[in-house]
Amino acid sequence: MTALTVGNVTLTYPDGSDRVTALNRVDLSVRGGEIAAITGPSGSGKSSLLATVATLIRPDSGRILLETASGTIDLATLSRRAAAGVRRAGIGIVFQQSNLIPALTAVEQLEVMSHLGRRRLPAPAMRRRTRSRAMELLEAVGLADQYAKHPAQLSGGQRQRVNIARALMNDPTLLVIDEPTSALDTERGSAIIDLILDMSRTHRAATLLVTHDHTHLHRMNAVYTMTDGVLTPAHTATAAA
Ligand code: ADP
Ligand code: MG
Repeated sequence: MTALTVGNVTLTYPDGSDRVTALNRVDLSVRGGEIAAITGPSGSGKSSLLATVATLIRPDSGRILLETASGTIDLATLSRRAAAGVRRAGIGIVFQQSNLIPALTAVEQLEVMSHLGRRRLPAPAMRRRTRSRAMELLEAVGLADQYAKHPAQLSGGQRQRVNIARALMNDPTLLVIDEPTSALDTERGSAIIDLILDMSRTHRAATLLVTHDHTHLHRMNAVYTMTDGVLTPAHTATAAA
């Protein structure tokens, strides 16, 4: 059973001759197939928490335990190199702005994920497997018929769907999603939240979702509020789908 347990995590950034505290002794836990939502005002530390959990930033102190079938690792103490390996193999990341590569088609955005970190072009059989996995995921996010489109030919909502499909490409045990609907209208935003709920449960990933959209919070497994780097459980919902 997958589980993420963040314990007593503190993160500071340099601020002139001083330091600013972005995360102040944060505790949180989420299991595979569940979503913990995080809300809170701008500048409160939400993105810093996701970047820390995603191994993009190392905290000053604390534990970030990721428990999977193959054992438990502390993401807070990995070297840069080890962190890159763990990210490639097991962490799906979706940021607010869909950072897709302009020159690639939708299906290629996904395929690139399996070729990362390899020195040589994969064999044809492997490339076919990668293509069919990428097509399956595009189908799951409702974009199979758009697979040959470039980002400029897709709407904001469609780009965010490609982003989510891409994050699932390597079958992550951990999914971190930062304000995925902030650039979308209410209706498209709702559809993206539906998709995240569905994907997180189907793929059994432990999911952290930062959102300013309060209308969907009752559907999350847990809701936390971030204020000045302090994370507080807001309420615990039963997993109503
Ligand atoms: P949120 O996502 O809730 O808006 P952030 O995690 O982006 O909050 O920021 C939390 C605090 O940390 C803010 O005061 C912000 O200015 C500061 N901060 C964020 N990133 C950096 C950085 N790379 N260097 C210095 N300070 C930063
Ligand atoms: Mg942010």
